[in-house]
Amino acid sequence: MENQEHTEIAILGCGPAGIVTAIGLAKMGYKVCVIANIRKHNVTEGISERVFQALTTLSLQHTLKKISSPIPRSVSWNGTHSAANTERLIRRVSFDNALLKDLANANIPFYNETIIKVETHPSSCLIVCKSGKTFHTDFVVEARGRAAPLSKKSHIRGVDSLSICQNWQSSNADLMSPEAIAISIENGWLWLANNGQGNIFTQVSVSAKSNTGSAKEKLSTFIHKLVLSRPELAHITPFIEPEGKVLARSSTPLFNKHPIKDRLICVGDAAISGDPLSGSGIFLSLSAALIAPVVINTLLNKPQNKTLAETFYVARLHHLFYRFCRVGRDFYKMESRWQEHPFWQERCAWPDQKLAHQEKDRIIGVAKRPVVNNGFIEEKEVVITAEQPLGIWKINNNNAVDVLSVQLKKLNIS
Ligand SMILES: Cc1cc2nc3c(=O)[nH]c(=O)nc-3n(C[C@H](O)[C@H](O)[C@H](O)COP(=O)(O)OP(=O)(O)OC[C@H]3O[C@@H](n4cnc5c(N)ncnc54)[C@H](O)[C@@H]3O)c2cc1C
Repeated sequence: MENQEHTEIAILGCGPAGIVTAIGLAKMGYKVCVIANIRKHNVTEGISERVFQALTTLSLQHTLKKISSPIPRSVSWNGTHSAANTERLIRRVSFDNALLKDLANANIPFYNETIIKVETHPSSCLIVCKSGKTFHTDFVVEARGRAAPLSKKSHIRGVDSLSICQNWQSSNADLMSPEAIAISIENGWLWLANNGQGNIFTQVSVSAKSNTGSAKEKLSTFIHKLVLSRPELAHITPFIEPEGKVLARSSTPLFNKHPIKDRLICVGDAAISGDPLSGSGIFLSLSAALIAPVVINTLLNKPQNKTLAETFYVARLHHLFYRFCRVGRDFYKMESRWQEHPFWQERCAWPDQKLAHQEKDRIIGVAKRPVVNNGFIEEKEVVITAEQPLGIWKINNNNAVDVLSVQLKKLNIS
């Protein structure tokens, strides 16, 4: 009996998506627990101000402390070097550990386990761990990131990509100014992040089909040679030494077309993961995690709205996925020197040639669409615009259809 636990909802995975979903569900009164193994590979990632704001709104005090101040970001692309905006850096091991501290602050139990099997049945779920421990739950949140089981049939897959990562150390005081640099190369692109505290992280993203091979030794030689030969990094490279092993991460964009089934919902990378060039991974993860609790609440307590809740969830994630894929595509398109190279050719063509953003927003019509109302997904009348195809329900707490009634009349839309 000791090895069996019962809880209402189990969240599998303790990355940003799992933790934010768990806290959201606990706030709604659900009895939840998080089951996951803890990340071991220390990589650096860059997050936008929007992600920082979202985590601030959630008051994740320990996590916020592990996010750097905004650091300058530059870009060496298409033969020109320019200063871009800023980004904030996170070291994933300490960031993820801080997420766990915020989870503990919210009094949510955490089980450090490796999950080997998940079964969902019409009225319950079973989670089996490597240690032999089992969990019986009413509902499961799949937040194991890219390690979540993947079905080819149910996923939209972008161009296959691989990112090769290497940490470096420096004790040179001249490298104390933090910075991030993105550099295009003939068969991919390179990102360097200097945290100004002795750690320098490099990541090279190439085609998964490229001849870098998968043997660790070959990958180390590839990334070391590349980083040490870049003229844009000449102010850094003489002072750094590789630290730890090289790590290869799959970075293919993936979209799960069926993130909800039976008593399970996928959040974060398990539902939607973008190309690292669009710098949107954690943003997309949080976008799913922030709306998942209301969707789950509807599935469990208003089963008559199940289809509406699914439509709401899938449509939002689908919209975000394509928007960020197109943003990434436009950035690839800004590099014109290697148009014949398959790496650039494939990424400039995917997912399509539609605009990432409408140049000018315009009202298209009024329609009934699923929205969030008092903790549930319900159908309401919304205004559809070119930029907001999923509809705007409220403007400053008033119904958008009423606020925009004059414009709608002019357009002969009622
Ligand atoms: C190469 C690369 C570079 C990236 N760079 C950036 C960037 O600069 N900025 C950005 O915003 N995003 C970036 N991302 C994306 C970002 O890492 C993800 O979007 C984000 O971590 C997803 O969060 P998550 O919670 O869904 O999953 P994860 O953070 O991956 O968490 C998954 C959790 O599940 C656990 N787990 C997995 N399998 C099991 C199992 N069998 N049993 C128990 N636990 C398990 C893991 O240990 C982990 O805790 C990058 C991604 C890649 C691949």
